[in-house]
Amino acid sequence: MPAVSTVEDICRSLVALDRIDHEVWAIDGELRDEPQAITADADTLAAHKAEHARLETTLKAARSEAGAFERELANIETRRTRAQNRIANLVTAEQIAATEREIANLGEQADEAELSALEGMESVEKITWSRDTEVTAIATGEVALAVRREAWNGRKAEIETRRSVLETEREPLFGDLRGDVARRYKVGWNMPFYKPPSGLTGADGIMCTTCRTTLSPKWVQECRRFDTLHACDSCKRILCFDPDAPPPVQAEVEAEVHADG
Ligand SMILES: [Zn+2]
Repeated sequence: MPAVSTVEDICRSLVALDRIDHEVWAIDGELRDEPQAITADADTLAAHKAEHARLETTLKAARSEAGAFERELANIETRRTRAQNRIANLVTAEQIAATEREIANLGEQADEAELSALEGMESVEKITWSRDTEVTAIATGEVALAVRREAWNGRKAEIETRRSVLETEREPLFGDLRGDVARRYKVGWNMPFYKPPSGLTGADGIMCTTCRTTLSPKWVQECRRFDTLHACDSCKRILCFDPDAPPPVQAEVEAEVHADG
């Protein structure tokens, strides 16, 4: 037989039950969300590693290309020096003119190759910077992930223990509730629109604190006096006051007086 009898006792049990259920709900949220957040962090880290590997490959190609432009430039410069040295030994005006054209031509080629070599070096610098950014991100990410995982291992054990304590405390509270009260409490708790979930609501004057619907003043009075239990028509939560709560502040008293009239 249920041990709970008076409305005041029922309210006391409901308040205790709702507190426990709220804490269990918060723990379950943490047990669900934190592993997901850790997985997301691990995914981000893996993405940085993949980007780092891609940049290393790109950097290798860019270095090789820049090196090729530098060798080409050196080669052109060698040819230009040789042509310049040759001029002194030339006799005919045609030969001299042809060599001068060759030197001018090699000069243009050298300018082009130099530009390409500079661009190649700039590209190498940019990729190196990006690569180094990834190196930093990986190092930071690995430390942060390790710290988060370790913290979670401790926290998880702690809240799982707390959860089983709460379950043990909850069992007699819920088990001793009158069937209709337990049913109404569950209906209120399972209403999906109001977060965090709760089986109970309060009144701000005659307004439901959960859904802001105007309640029957008579109901509010009856609930405050622990004469009977009512549930809000709109959010379905049981209008339940904590019998052990400190006395209401002046504003609430005034609202109550107003509701009486
Ligand atoms: Zn409501």
